[in-house]
Amino acid sequence: MASIMSNVECPQCKKTALEDFYYKTDETFLCCFHCGYYYQREQKYDEAKREMFTEEKEWYGYGVYSLVKNDGSKGITKVLNVEITEDEKEEMIKSFESKESKDVDMKKSYFILYDKGAFTLLAGTYPKDFQLSYKEWESIYDTDDSLSMYE
Ligand SMILES: [Zn+2]
Repeated sequence: MASIMSNVECPQCKKTALEDFYYKTDETFLCCFHCGYYYQREQKYDEAKREMFTEEKEWYGYGVYSLVKNDGSKGITKVLNVEITEDEKEEMIKSFESKESKDVDMKKSYFILYDKGAFTLLAGTYPKDFQLSYKEWESIYDTDDSLSMYE
């Protein structure tokens, strides 16, 4: 499937989100790795009506969790699309402080909650440029709108 990946402004937090646009089908997937917001527009088939229809869904973001290890293995990155409980929050914070914590690259790892327009760092380090809004980020980095194109 042909798609264009580009950086766009996140509708929720106004920071930089990644959009994957399938121009042949007019389908879109948007994910924000700042606040966790997720949006998709898909073409679905209605069996009863025997016709295609457009389905839009969105999930509010509650934050992002990224754990990177010192050994260079692939880290885990999760966006939070449901509000997490206090217990879950504790668990996630502990994952940074476990006895294996010396394996965790705290400079590259982070656990950030998003709530009502505010970000709170609970563990690790804010990634470089995390605080930039999309407009600020764009003025510094983004000269070419599309990052890559796949056929
Ligand atoms: Zn966002």
